[in-house]
Amino acid sequence: MNGLKSLDEKYAKDILLKLLEEDQPVLITKLYKSNRNYYAFKNVIKKMEEDGLVEVKESTEGRKSIYVSLTEKGRAVAEKIKEAEDIAAGRTEMHPDWKEKFKNMRAMVHFNTYENVIRITDYLPDGTVRYVDVDVNIRGNKMYLYCEACGSFDCEHINFIWSHPKLRRDLLKKAQEEHLIIVDGEKAERENGKKK
Ligand SMILES: [Zn+2]
Repeated sequence: MNGLKSLDEKYAKDILLKLLEEDQPVLITKLYKSNRNYYAFKNVIKKMEEDGLVEVKESTEGRKSIYVSLTEKGRAVAEKIKEAEDIAAGRTEMHPDWKEKFKNMRAMVHFNTYENVIRITDYLPDGTVRYVDVDVNIRGNKMYLYCEACGSFDCEHINFIWSHPKLRRDLLKKAQEEHLIIVDGEKAERENGKKK
């Protein structure tokens, strides 16, 4: 069996994770970092292509450029690596205190950063279930969360979201990518709460 030998190569995991993060074909020059040996780097890409992890395509439009993207197999492998890294870094588990505190709440963890609503399922003590939508509001360069159920910028649902490792990471990433300042709940409540 030939396995996935290319994964043993230096940079291979980094390249997979970068492609997973970008989620689209990436210019080969964007994957290359100047502290790397370019010849070795190209060689790793070639081996990864041979292992069926990535696809290398030349764009024919305008200036010749080479794009690298994940194959389906490559994506599956990249997701596993990401998962393993998250576990190693303790990023997947909620803090035990929070786990206890928010044991009745579940969030839609596949929060899409292009959609600006996070839906929380709240299992109430009387056995009923309610859905709570929390809006990710962006005004100017500020981002804050607003809970429609509570009419508040600072409630348990919002605390739950910030204590949830994946949601927290996605929101921080969104803020970083869009150059947004995150306004914390108390402050947003002070600035906007009274007007409502
Ligand atoms: Zn709420």
